[in-house]
Amino acid sequence: MQPLQIVPCRLLSWLHSGLKSPVSTRTRICPTMARPSSSMADFRKFFAKAKHIVVISGAGVSAESGVPTFRGAGGYWRTWQAQDLATPQAFARNPSLVWEFYHYRREVMLSKEPNPGHLAIAECEARLRGQGRRLVVITQNIDELHRKAGTKNLLEIHGSLFKTRCTSCGVVAENYKSPICPALLGKGAPEPEAQDARIPVEKLPRCEEAGCEGLLRPHVVWFGENLDPAILEEVDRELTLCDLCLVVSARGVPVAEFNMETTPATNRFRFHFQGPCGTTLPEALAPHETENVS
Ligand SMILES: [Zn+2]
Repeated sequence: MQPLQIVPCRLLSWLHSGLKSPVSTRTRICPTMARPSSSMADFRKFFAKAKHIVVISGAGVSAESGVPTFRGAGGYWRTWQAQDLATPQAFARNPSLVWEFYHYRREVMLSKEPNPGHLAIAECEARLRGQGRRLVVITQNIDELHRKAGTKNLLEIHGSLFKTRCTSCGVVAENYKSPICPALLGKGAPEPEAQDARIPVEKLPRCEEAGCEGLLRPHVVWFGENLDPAILEEVDRELTLCDLCLVVSARGVPVAEFNMETTPATNRFRFHFQGPCGTTLPEALAPHETENVS
């Protein structure tokens, strides 16, 4: 799923912060998958020279593995969508219901496998490592399919379906149990007519730290929550150091580049804005009279 925090502009501002390095001898490019056939040969040339590659991946990569997102048309669990249940308010109101939703999503992942896109990225990372080069994946996906494919340098900015966090002591722990607790066995059916299990809070997943037993929650970033500043710092570092950045979006959305200079990649973007971001971004993102006209 992609609790969603990462809208394109957030990604772009990251890309931008990676691009604003004064090291002008480097060429930073962000080819998209939108028009690969005409540019693949050029891309391969950049790729061959790149020492530090960042791959930013989103829901498109997971979609090819059949991972449901519970968003958009037809994206329902019972009568809800992710944005209804993936919130701190929903968890406070009905932790049993939210755990049923996440239990279902964890169980669904037992039958999902990485697709050739995940595998190519992981194989590439291993190959480059042998050459003293580096590849890092920054993903908003919480399904761990990159990890399952073998990716080692991985920043999961939205957390993971397979990690829990204690609401009492804050400890984050990996958790691959199926079911995650006995009370959730057989629960979480996605059909609209399925009954809410109404599991008492003491029977929901509980912390295993000595003497704690606090209520656990999924270690994922919910709507309205902030990304982990420590992970954002790592993202910033990788974007600052990288000399090639791939945005893997299967949604066909336009990608805009904000850069101090043109690069050989510039004409592959749908939009290019040249100049200091302090000038270009405020102009690009200012309210406009045609907004929200539908
Ligand atoms: Zn605890």
